[in-house]
Amino acid sequence: MKRNVIIIGSGPSGYTAALYAARADLSPLLFEGSQPGGQLTITTDVENFPGFPDGIMGPELMEKFKKQAERFGTEIKNQKIDKVDFSSDVLKVWSGDEEFLSDSIIISTGASAKLLGLESEKKLMGYGVSACATCDAFFFRDKKVFVVGGGDSAMEEALFLTKFASSVTIIHRRDKFRASKIMQDKALSNDKIDVMWNSSIVDMIGEPDKGGLKSIMVKSTIDGSIDKIDSDGVFLGIGHTPNSDIFKDYIKLNDKGYILTYNNSTETSVKGVFAAGDIMDPIYRQAITAAGSGCMAALDAEKYLENLHI
Ligand code: NAP
Repeated sequence: MKRNVIIIGSGPSGYTAALYAARADLSPLLFEGSQPGGQLTITTDVENFPGFPDGIMGPELMEKFKKQAERFGTEIKNQKIDKVDFSSDVLKVWSGDEEFLSDSIIISTGASAKLLGLESEKKLMGYGVSACATCDAFFFRDKKVFVVGGGDSAMEEALFLTKFASSVTIIHRRDKFRASKIMQDKALSNDKIDVMWNSSIVDMIGEPDKGGLKSIMVKSTIDGSIDKIDSDGVFLGIGHTPNSDIFKDYIKLNDKGYILTYNNSTETSVKGVFAAGDIMDPIYRQAITAAGSGCMAALDAEKYLENLHI
């Protein structure tokens, strides 16, 4: 059976697209992907999503998004799309060997924060470890925090954290930042910010149920010596990777792999394929902006389908 619209991804943009498409009677089919609920499921309190004056836990917020999309008839599959073919008017996607056809597709596969790859980092994510200062800095009032990275993201995270934390130390693996001069200058001239050059975090100590992160093990990239340092928080600012790999043969991406959109809309380079959320937004990357573009994508798809069926 050919669908009107298939939505790939289940973060704020995917579920908002589903909500609008379902209410437009398009009977959307949504694939949750490998991280149902998206990046918000790895944060704890969300205090900047409007409508929740007391805040809400990330996973709970995403459960509400899902319920609201289902209430209007979205069909949700707990499957991952791993192949697509957008070479003809009938758009094709596959989950394993299972093929699905659709007149339109909304891509909401998001971006993933790059991580250091430590077991302890995975365990403490949301318990002292974060990849989003805008989301979590507030919980580190008067705390001693560290930011990893040397690019614009790390500078931005560090500067934002100075509003809350008592001290912010940037840990960078080399002796030079790659961030823009203006961002470097801002960070380096801030009294609350220190830098540990030629250093990398090799382990994080603490237990989620015992107050979270307590200390970090920092290794010198010059002589290999390792120091244990007390730490209340670690923010990873080492970049994001857009989850666009399976689309790259069909859709135009920018040089960092984000999907390009056109005409102040969510249209991509392929007719009938729309993109919303972090997969097309390297700048704002917020749940609320992702939800907004998810809404736009559903409206764009609805208009496209109307014209298709005239
Ligand atoms: P980026 O420019 O790729 O920088 C990533 C940084 O993280 C680099 O300093 C890199 O170190 C370090 N890093 C990467 N992997 C690491 C690892 N495994 N362990 C330790 N350190 C690691 O990424 P970004 O800062 O997210 O910026 C991405 C793009 O967005 C850039 O074009 C940037 O200008 C833009 N951006 C702009 C703004 C702004 O203008 N306000 C804000 C954020 C981002 P090395 O230097 O040694 O490679």
